[in-house]
Amino acid sequence: MPELPEVETSRRGIKPHIYQRKITDVIIREHRLRWPIPENLPATVTSQRVEQVLRRGKYLLLQLQTGSIIIHLGMSGSLRIISPDQLADKHDHIDFCFDNKKILRLHDPRKFGCVLWTDQPIAEHKLFENMGPEPLLKDFNADYLYQLSRKRKTSIKSFIMNSHIVVGIGNIYASESLFKAGINPERKAGNVSFEACQRLVTVIKNTLSASIKQGGTTLRDFTAEDGKPGYFAQQLMVYGKADEACPNCGNAIKQIIQQQRSTFYCSRCQK
Ligand SMILES: [Zn+2]
Repeated sequence: MPELPEVETSRRGIKPHIYQRKITDVIIREHRLRWPIPENLPATVTSQRVEQVLRRGKYLLLQLQTGSIIIHLGMSGSLRIISPDQLADKHDHIDFCFDNKKILRLHDPRKFGCVLWTDQPIAEHKLFENMGPEPLLKDFNADYLYQLSRKRKTSIKSFIMNSHIVVGIGNIYASESLFKAGINPERKAGNVSFEACQRLVTVIKNTLSASIKQGGTTLRDFTAEDGKPGYFAQQLMVYGKADEACPNCGNAIKQIIQQQRSTFYCSRCQK
């Protein structure tokens, strides 16, 4: 599943090809994604220029002159920049054609992604109005996490995966970050010390940044004739490694279920 680093990598990959370009056509082959693609999208966006290519959480935003196209990659979506002579396959649901003869094409076999339009300011849109801060920006910091978590009885893992608290920390990044910060994922959020919040914020930022940097090496794939843009293999310490040796202490890594999602951790290193 595309996580925040993949979405940010997609943003950086497509931006040079579409920034300040004018949309000349929109071809929709399948309207039925997670939410239907609006019928009037082609009429609304054609002839408009892309003024910004932004990301908020795991949403990509193509900011045009009168509003924004909102794209989510869902479980299996990917974006590619292609030339007009490349035939679409059955999971290529929508093409945005630009005045430089390039096409932005959404491929999504499972159709959990979305393509929407809004003419509201993004911050006021219902998808975004209650979103917490971006994990890589300054307003996500130890003070913020510590203050917000006081008296909260939910586990620290659920807490950091809650998009009202901070956006874009998926299941894998939550397990990995808690391991690197030495925090037991079942610990109540309200019982995590300020020092532990500092460690956690630092490892979250470092882990996401490292993944984005690693993703940068796959940017060329955005225009590859055959390849799909890379969801890069993450270097995982504990996730998916039940019963294997902890990379720190050699103790067997445990797997538990929290809110229907698997968590992996070392009971010796994480307190
Ligand atoms: Zn350990």
